Amino acid sequence: MAAFDATAAANSGVKKLQPYQAGKPMDELQRELGLSHVVKLASNENPLGLSEKVRTALQAELSNLIRYPDANGFYLKSKLAELHRVEPQQITLGNGSNDVLEILARTFVSAEEEVIFSQHAFVVYPLVTQAIGAKGVAVPAKDYGHDLEAMAAAVTDKTKMIFVANPNNPTGTFLTTEQIKDFLDKVPPHVIVVLDEAYYEYVPEPERAPSIDWLQHYPNLVVSRTFSKAYGLAGLRAGYAVSSTEIADLMNRIRQPFNVNALSLKAAEVVLDDHDYLQQAVQVNQQGMKQLVEFCQQQGYDYIPSYGNFLTIEFGPKAMDIYEKLLHEGIIVRPVGGYQLPNHLRVSIGLKEENQAFIDAMLKIG
Ligand SMILES: *Cc1c(COP(=O)(O)O)cnc(C)c1O
Repeated sequence: MAAFDATAAANSGVKKLQPYQAGKPMDELQRELGLSHVVKLASNENPLGLSEKVRTALQAELSNLIRYPDANGFYLKSKLAELHRVEPQQITLGNGSNDVLEILARTFVSAEEEVIFSQHAFVVYPLVTQAIGAKGVAVPAKDYGHDLEAMAAAVTDKTKMIFVANPNNPTGTFLTTEQIKDFLDKVPPHVIVVLDEAYYEYVPEPERAPSIDWLQHYPNLVVSRTFSKAYGLAGLRAGYAVSSTEIADLMNRIRQPFNVNALSLKAAEVVLDDHDYLQQAVQVNQQGMKQLVEFCQQQGYDYIPSYGNFLTIEFGPKAMDIYEKLLHEGIIVRPVGGYQLPNHLRVSIGLKEENQAFIDAMLKIG
């Protein structure tokens, strides 16, 4: 048989990539350490459990699973269009918002072009950039967050796209309406700005940017949102982008026709109407955030003030040691060394008793 070197054959961008490090699955930890109870605070998932309305709707949807899903997601797009006061043609649905981020990069960026993102920003931005062989430009962070002035200054003739996460993961940092607006005014029109608002629902209403309304003034803006966080559907994978119809039309040409499955479409439609669920999710998050912040203050741990559903805490050089010790206590949090934050751990906000389990474990391991 002829020798085949798969690594040599891979495209140059892919060769340089590291695989995405997901939060450790609960049953894996249970198996490995023989633990009976595990608390996962590692992937910014919604601790409330599935919306009961969604559960009922999914049961009913099962009998339709022999059919292909609606390739255009008519009902979900109609609902979203109404919610955001846009046309359904401005919406691109994705298998999670990660999918729309990748579709965006593949639609607009070619190998000789550049994509700008911030240091400590969401790992999917460099990932989708490198997969197409384009050049990623990571702009040093300011106080752990996006330095929008430096990002605007990093734009060159070759820049095609800029990713901005607001709030950012894994730092939880937040950019004000005014900061983003100033930035959009500075970015030249040949550059597409992708505003990733995965944690939008957790931001107090008065502080939320009217980002989707801005689409009328900035045709180079794309806003992405997800059902994975506050809506509690991470396992189903549903997210979307809102943009001009022109951008949506181009994205639609390379999107896999059935990228959002039938259960996800149904669940997303139903949860959009479950206002109580969303409200409760946000409330549980506020209370849990307070609980973790107070713990940090009492114990003298520095943390990055967060607008998301997680808190990133500084533990110094012992961070990985603490991570391992927490695992042995059945608590999974998230190391963020891959985000150039080797001294921090990101702790997702859980239910009160889950946060308390983390706190108790921390006090125990000292
Ligand atoms: C969690 C997260 C997403 C959402 O990813 P999905 O693919 O929709 O699950 C997007 N952006 C950021 C910054 C996130 O943290």
